[in-house]
Amino acid sequence: MSSAARQRELGRGERVRPGLWRLRLPLPWPGVPHCNAWAVAAGDGVVLFDTGMHEPGSLAHLERALDQVDLRLEQVRLLVCTHAHSDHYGQAAPIMERSGAELWMHPDHAHVTRAARDPQAALERRLEVAAQSGVPRVALERYRAQRFGQGYGIAEIVLPDRDLVPGVEVATDLGTWQVVETPGHAPSHVCLFEPQHRLLISGDHLLGRVSLYYDYGWTPDPAGEFLHSLDAVDALDARLCLAGHARPFADVHQHVEANRALVASRIHAVADAIGAGPRTAFDIVPDVYGEPLTEATAGWWLSETLCYLRHLERTGRAAREPGEDGEPERWRGTP
Ligand SMILES: [Zn+2]
Ligand SMILES: [Zn+2]
Repeated sequence: MSSAARQRELGRGERVRPGLWRLRLPLPWPGVPHCNAWAVAAGDGVVLFDTGMHEPGSLAHLERALDQVDLRLEQVRLLVCTHAHSDHYGQAAPIMERSGAELWMHPDHAHVTRAARDPQAALERRLEVAAQSGVPRVALERYRAQRFGQGYGIAEIVLPDRDLVPGVEVATDLGTWQVVETPGHAPSHVCLFEPQHRLLISGDHLLGRVSLYYDYGWTPDPAGEFLHSLDAVDALDARLCLAGHARPFADVHQHVEANRALVASRIHAVADAIGAGPRTAFDIVPDVYGEPLTEATAGWWLSETLCYLRHLERTGRAAREPGEDGEPERWRGTP
């Protein structure tokens, strides 16, 4: 997106139904122009679900979106984050400071909070995983130079006042929201479900357009966890899904099915790609996605592929050969 186009993206607020507002906040990411925060009426204020990313001027976008629906930041009584990624948690600190609200979030947030404390170490760790996966050294050096010193989209690390785990309830005028753990996309991911109106705040677990992403390296089997989380959400029989990006959607079960189908086809493609012999994760990406890695897709596709390899390993369908003397590790299918 050109910088001129980006400047036209502004925070926008709209009412979804009485007592429920969508706050659409701009993002600087190519292909992902905005994310959503959701405000739900609660007494004389609102519960705010998610925050938008922190960047210069980003709080003004949130305030603009709130203002369009006659709300103010000071009215936030409680801040609930679906997970700790920057577009859902990045502005937590300034929102808490301005409103005095507590933050509730799942306790498995180290995948972001630890990385954000030492971004350089986190970058080095990602580069190490990439090298081990067979990414050529010259590409890694380019990536390092590009990413060095880049911000994390998080204003300040703030820890939750309360752990958002099953059994915790979030009271609003629309009803009481239950916590459903949905790890996979991120270890800290939860969905919030309001059974009376069958509303689901789904974060990045379930999106209008199927888009798979897993945080790699924090749990043993993110893809397997994601599939379990799809089952958990499917069982809720939600009627309306309020996702972390794009518009609300109604056909929740079909969206779950579409996610299952895409995961299954990617796992299948990965299993096929390692069937004929030991290969690196980097080598099989073009087979799985139909095109080679670029700098734009590298982090995303490589970690997704690694998650499927781990999943196949855990389910006895792949074996890993550790690389010796700086050689990358290789994978092969097991009969
Ligand atoms: Zn996310
Ligand atoms: Zn997101």
